[in-house]
Amino acid sequence: MNSTALDKFGPKKADHPSVGKPCPACGKNFTAGNYTTLVTLGPGDDKKRQERARSGRAYSAVAVEVHWACATGQTVN
Ligand SMILES: [Zn+2]
Repeated sequence: MNSTALDKFGPKKADHPSVGKPCPACGKNFTAGNYTTLVTLGPGDDKKRQERARSGRAYSAVAVEVHWACATGQTVN
């Protein structure tokens, strides 16, 4: 995986909507100060997006937020 293609977000502020929600990769809650990224999953169950994905065209992908380290193995700071 080419981690340089990922956007690094953070440090997360205490009032960020995902603070207190679990990271899907490790199950630990996001906390203030975390660095995260969005990992693309695919077209989801949207028929038009699936069509576009099958034909190799660009589409808006479903993505999930995970800790930066969970996506890349890289520690922050
Ligand atoms: Zn995580």
